Amino acid sequence: MTLTDDQIFYLCLMGILLLIGIFFFLSKKFPGVSYEGELNLAEIKHYFFKKHRCRGCGHGLKRKKEKEFLEEGWTWFRDVLSYMKQYKVSYSLQCPNCQRTYTAEDFEA
Ligand SMILES: [Zn+2]
Repeated sequence: MTLTDDQIFYLCLMGILLLIGIFFFLSKKFPGVSYEGELNLAEIKHYFFKKHRCRGCGHGLKRKKEKEFLEEGWTWFRDVLSYMKQYKVSYSLQCPNCQRTYTAEDFEA
């Protein structure tokens, strides 16, 4: 049996549509994750490797990382159309003694 050009064209088209469908299905099933507000190198150094003391009472501070869900949807990520979940991350330090909170920026200086 030989196929006509038209039939080959439609077969290819269906194959491509199927691949696109699988791509969208898999992307959505396994969404990428991106974070906003990650610390830069200097902030990481200060945040993780320095001992911090509360400015009010002098107690040692506890690190706290908070993740806030922003949105999910289709977006271009590194030149690839991807289904992404976006989060905003914030790093803070909290005093277990007097409950004061400090942001990562507070410790840059
Ligand atoms: Zn304190």
